[in-house]
Amino acid sequence: MDTELAVAWIRETAAAVEQQESYLAELDSAIGDGDHGSNLRRGFTAVVTALDALEPDSIAAVLAKTGTTLISKVGGASGPLYGSAFRAMGKALPQATATPAELAAALTEGLLAIQQLGGAAPGDKTIVDAWAPAVAAFEAAAGDGLPAAADAADAAAAQGARDTIPLQARKGRASYLGPRSTGHQDPGATSTALLFHTLALVARAG
Ligand code: ADP
Ligand code: MG
Repeated sequence: MDTELAVAWIRETAAAVEQQESYLAELDSAIGDGDHGSNLRRGFTAVVTALDALEPDSIAAVLAKTGTTLISKVGGASGPLYGSAFRAMGKALPQATATPAELAAALTEGLLAIQQLGGAAPGDKTIVDAWAPAVAAFEAAAGDGLPAAADAADAAAAQGARDTIPLQARKGRASYLGPRSTGHQDPGATSTALLFHTLALVARAG
């Protein structure tokens, strides 16, 4: 990964979030307050504007700006969680270009930041349920190059998001529903799957 690919990843994510806004809203309406789509659209629109103004010259600058913008622009739980993840990834990638193994380590730092802030473990029906398997798959395939690793992470995140359907939420707003949170796919795990999907898209194109 280099600066250009990092920018492409964030831009692609902003476009995907915009396209999937109503789907994410629908998922969040079922077990939350319905704002996940609009939260992320507002956040990533602001991120794109911030990146355009900044003209970042490093991966770290791209990811740090993404993180701080999400934290400041997204009111919901997902803003600080994703924001902290991007900031942690930026900190972990000071180099001009990152190898797949270095990117795997940064994605792990992102996961740790999410878990440190939100206290969720795998199985709690959160972002962690897509991010954790994605990181594991990315790490396992890192030796095969970035496109292969990102593809593996994409598939694992999508599966992780689907696997949240039978789970009962133990963190976040959905946990207020108790057993009634089962039978629905978690919105945050779904947006995390989007994030790994766009990474795979730009990795293939780049
Ligand atoms: P809010 O719940 O404040 O309305 P959003 O709707 O934007 O915020 O985000 C909801 C998503 O945030 C949930 O679907 C879940 O995946 C994620 N989430 C909530 N709490 C946590 C947590 N403690 N750890 C990880 N993810 C969480
Ligand atoms: Mg919500």
